[in-house]
Amino acid sequence: MTFRLAYLIDTLPAEDPRTDFAGTFAPIDPDAPALSVSDLSSNRGDGIFESIAVVDGHPQETGPHLDRLAHSARLTDLPVPNLAQLRAVVEHAAAQCPPGEYTVRLLMSRGVQHGGPGQGIHGPTAWLTAAQAPDSTAARERGIRVVTLDRGYDSGAAARAPWLLLGAKTLSYAVNMAALREAKRRGADDAVFVTSDGYVLEAPTATVIIRRGDAFLTPEPTGGILQGTTQLSAFDWLEENGHPTGYEHVPVAALHDADAAWLVSSTRLAAPITHVDGRELPVDRDLTAALNAYLLGPRD
Ligand code: PLP
Repeated sequence: MTFRLAYLIDTLPAEDPRTDFAGTFAPIDPDAPALSVSDLSSNRGDGIFESIAVVDGHPQETGPHLDRLAHSARLTDLPVPNLAQLRAVVEHAAAQCPPGEYTVRLLMSRGVQHGGPGQGIHGPTAWLTAAQAPDSTAARERGIRVVTLDRGYDSGAAARAPWLLLGAKTLSYAVNMAALREAKRRGADDAVFVTSDGYVLEAPTATVIIRRGDAFLTPEPTGGILQGTTQLSAFDWLEENGHPTGYEHVPVAALHDADAAWLVSSTRLAAPITHVDGRELPVDRDLTAALNAYLLGPRD
């Protein structure tokens, strides 16, 4: 039996002082229709979300995920959610998950549009789903092949055009999914987006970390990409283990010539990159295994 659950959440304003959230969220049948056909999530992709890993009942890095959700809400002019309420819902869902790896997704759309465009919106709509995580053993242990794909804008786009919402985790992931399909068409497992002026951004659902000598680097999350919660955890662990870490503007050549590289994300964790655009990269299997063992442990 595959485990799945879902809750509808009656979102509270950020300033609501209550500490008992019972009655503000309710389980629903994860297989039954639950959202209005007029919800702006399905009509416009107008909403935000977070995917949180649950390992043996523990939701990983709930705080950083909720902070990023609040950041996404601010960037998209959605009401900033009540983080204490959402934490309670995430913890409630995680406590129902059997042992093993699960993914809790927290989603918030602008709401339901009554009538045509420009007419009243009743919202937001918020819900949570939880399901067994896909098996990532092969990616973690054997690694992945990636291709670089032009994201179609230069490294100044985020500052020049904030309405592109490049630093927000929005529900508009059609481009990210198209990039994954293109990577597969090119014989790879995943993609790495690069700017039109030749800098590394992020993968469609993961952060890039490269190793240069003993130092571990990731592209600066200065508006054009998401700040990865897994990358933050990985950097904590690397620093504790004596490796310098840093944020840089990373040219594509630095990825091609890296001493090792990984895509890191909440569910798959650290997947070592074996090939970039067909060129082989060194893989440090021991370090990758130790990093994944750390990432699988309880993290707050
Ligand atoms: N970048 C993008 C575009 C993502 O969608 C994700 C996660 O889904 C990440 C980076 C990695 O973020 P995290 O480590 O918090 O999962």
